Amino acid sequence: MQDINIVERIKRVRREISAAAVRAGRKPGEVRFIAVTKGIQPARIREAYDAGLREFGENYIQEAIGKIDLLPSDVKWHFIGRLQTNKAKYIPGRFIAVHSVERDDIAQQLQMVCEKKGIKMDIMIQVNVSGEKSKSGVTTENTLNLFNNVLKYNNIVVSGLMTIPPYSDDAESSRVYFRALRNLRDDLVHAGVPEKCLGELSMGMSGDFEIAVEEGATVVRIGTAIFGSRG
Ligand SMILES: *Cc1c(COP(=O)(O)O)cnc(C)c1O
Repeated sequence: MQDINIVERIKRVRREISAAAVRAGRKPGEVRFIAVTKGIQPARIREAYDAGLREFGENYIQEAIGKIDLLPSDVKWHFIGRLQTNKAKYIPGRFIAVHSVERDDIAQQLQMVCEKKGIKMDIMIQVNVSGEKSKSGVTTENTLNLFNNVLKYNNIVVSGLMTIPPYSDDAESSRVYFRALRNLRDDLVHAGVPEKCLGELSMGMSGDFEIAVEEGATVVRIGTAIFGSRG
């Protein structure tokens, strides 16, 4: 049975993304969203699938592996969680993209597995723009260096940058961090990183995606605004 709530919530998220894009003079079609399914049961994910969604994001490998097999094979899974090098081998072939690459050794592992499997995979570089100690991500200062390493890997296609701003109840407080990621993108282009490797800005979650879209997000990652609160 279709949960009317999910259908309505998806519509609302789409509407709000479009409105934010228009406010910023952007085309709504420039922004897509992935539905974040950590902690969400497969039956519930299936409802979102039946409502038309095809791109989902998971944070934990073990949890994701069990769920991926239970959902249709045309789902595009994104890995958005903290990634340890010893778990990287489970990613290629299951996920179309990793948003959370923060170190060269992780990229190197992904490259090795992709090469062995004869496939290519998209990655984004996660940047810790706020500099918070607890946050994942490469520092702003080290991002160019990481790009220069990762661009050497033939089976890994770097598509852009990702960030998570410090937690806050006030969506507006995320704006400076989203803007900083966009500025970093521009700086990297000026420093010679190919523009095609910087097309994506993965930023914005349920609490602040409208701000992220106003600041240039190309993909927002939405969990609770679609599935309700977790757990
Ligand atoms: C959980 C999570 C999200 C979604 O968060 P919501 O607030 O539920 O929308 C997005 N991105 C990452 C990296 C997450 O871990």
